[in-house]
Amino acid sequence: MKATSVKAYGTESAEADLKQFNIDRREVTSKDVGIDILFCGVCHSDLHFAHNDWDMTQYPVVPGHEIVGRVTHVGAGVSKYKEGDLVAVGCLVYSCRTCKNCKADLEQYCPEWVPTYGGYDKHLKTNTHGGYSESIVVDEEFVLGVPENLDPAGVAPILCAGITTWSPLRYWNVGKGSKVAVVGLGGLGHMAIKLATALGAHVTLFSRSANKIEDAKALGADEVIISTDQTQMEKALGRFDLILDTVPYAHDLNPYVGTLTTNGTLVVVGYLGPLDPMLVTVPLIMGRKSIAGSLIGGIAETQELLDFCGKHNITSDIEIINIQDINLAYKRMLKSDVKYRFVIDMKSLKS
Ligand code: NAP
Ligand code: ZN
Ligand code: ZN
Repeated sequence: MKATSVKAYGTESAEADLKQFNIDRREVTSKDVGIDILFCGVCHSDLHFAHNDWDMTQYPVVPGHEIVGRVTHVGAGVSKYKEGDLVAVGCLVYSCRTCKNCKADLEQYCPEWVPTYGGYDKHLKTNTHGGYSESIVVDEEFVLGVPENLDPAGVAPILCAGITTWSPLRYWNVGKGSKVAVVGLGGLGHMAIKLATALGAHVTLFSRSANKIEDAKALGADEVIISTDQTQMEKALGRFDLILDTVPYAHDLNPYVGTLTTNGTLVVVGYLGPLDPMLVTVPLIMGRKSIAGSLIGGIAETQELLDFCGKHNITSDIEIINIQDINLAYKRMLKSDVKYRFVIDMKSLKS
């Protein structure tokens, strides 16, 4: 199949910094949309993947799954989009469309789903490459429409940070009167606060960082609990219907389980791996509490979220960077020094 060489930023090993090189993009097939990338958000998963934290990375890697751009080409069979449309691509670019999960709009749980980067591109027979690049070609079924009233740079993080928190908020029926807590104020955490607030919930942030209290309240949180303060944690016992835990590294879940109400659920979205320290089951049993996990969201649900954000004028709080600053951005993300999402202006790669 014919391919076009485009500029991208990525890495060839876990230890190396990200740098510029060229990658191939396939030609637009009948059902494909060609997209000129305007902005791409920087997710902590990009960093995990570039550093091989999950022991599954195949190099080279071009991260980026919070993509917003304009349509430049459409295949002959494309009906949803036309040249010039403002569109987005999130964390997945293919699924089988026939399995039970796909039929239930849960493409993210399809056994054959293909992530936007680090998956297998059956057309080019190479790794899929993400949004730290000039352009991308994606099947129209995995392209989302972006409301034109929203700032496109602020929309980008909705494609991962937004949908990853929206999906559990919707699944666990958060609405008026729900008591929601969010653990960690970073990219996912700040979207969780905005979205749960917009759904009418009472929202509490658990954070290690006392310097984020004012920001959390400005984002919509009703209250902040400093998770390292024993007295504050004890006062929170038995209070929350749903906790979204966005912390990226192994940490103790036990103190949070205690703050769930009867039938409450703690949804882990941040950390992938074995728990350390171990989970004590007693508080789960004494109160029919659940620990759950959740992965991004399906295509229809992501479109639902983009439309909700368009209606409620919700975007991410971002710091725009040039692609040449990506290695510094990763270092700052590791120090939780980001308010609250880096977004790359792709002009910096094209110039
Ligand atoms: P982020 O912007 O770096 O935010 C993470 C926040 O967690 C930090 O701001 C900090 O908040 C807190 N934190 C960081 N290190 C911590 C530690 N060692 N102990 C306790 N708290 C810590 O990251 P993100 O982009 O939101 O991503 C969060 C995690 O979600 C990543 O692991 C990412 O891979 C994962 N993720 C999962 C999915 C999914 O589908 N499940 C999708 C996207 C991302 P405070 O300063 O407030 O404590
Ligand atoms: Zn992500
Ligand atoms: Zn499927």
